[in-house]
Amino acid sequence: MIEIKDVHKYFGKLEVLKGISNTINKGEVVVIIGPSGSGKSTLLRCLNMLEEPTKGEIWIEGKPLNHKTVDINKVRQEVGMVFQHFNLFPHKKVIENITLAPIKVKKENPEQAREKALKLLERVGLKDKAECYPASLSGGQKQRVAIARALAMNPKIMLFDEPTSALDPEMIKEVLDVMKDLVQDGMTMVVVTHEMAFAREVGDRVIFMDEGVIVEEGTPDEIFENPKNQRTKEFLSKIL
Ligand code: ADP
Ligand code: MG
Repeated sequence: MIEIKDVHKYFGKLEVLKGISNTINKGEVVVIIGPSGSGKSTLLRCLNMLEEPTKGEIWIEGKPLNHKTVDINKVRQEVGMVFQHFNLFPHKKVIENITLAPIKVKKENPEQAREKALKLLERVGLKDKAECYPASLSGGQKQRVAIARALAMNPKIMLFDEPTSALDPEMIKEVLDVMKDLVQDGMTMVVVTHEMAFAREVGDRVIFMDEGVIVEEGTPDEIFENPKNQRTKEFLSKIL
């Protein structure tokens, strides 16, 4: 589904990704952990073309992501992304937040886009909020709208960048439950999170990143119970 081949990313002289390679299979749930500044967000952003690797290649479903030859909108349709800070459009109603891209980018019929959006809102437990503005929602509700918005494009892959980090504790579960529902559905997911219980329950693989490289990867059991690398051990001892 996703092939990452020796990806390097520089911001000016700062090398933030230092040769990342990995393969993510269809239906796999990969959890990325690592200290702040280790390049997790940059890697996710490369996967949906919000950033361009300085060197190396990313292939999605057998096609190279390349800013010169690939239609960025097309890639973004297939690779949905959910951010820590929701990034909803504040001046649009919840339902408009969800239907905007399907209508504008995919040229969906507005009525059908609306019907689909209402179904998605039902799925994330927010059908009654369709006509509300984001400001009137809690953080957990905003994040569930953001997930519904990403799903409205019918993505094949979903990327989550610390989706619960900005939430009050009591709202974390409602968002993780929606994500688990997606896992049940067989969605291919790459999730940056420090929610270890989530990683253990639904993660197929955990990747530990530090200073722009993949230091260690394995099953949740391997990484959490029996980390091999000293840096992984030190990181886990701080967060567990
Ligand atoms: P993480 O998500 O693991 O915390 P990031 O990918 O956000 O790490 O950042 C990795 C490094 O890249 C940090 O040192 C950060 O300051 C730097 N960085 C990220 N985005 C940019 C940017 N647009 N311009 C310059 N430096 C950036
Ligand atoms: Mg980050």
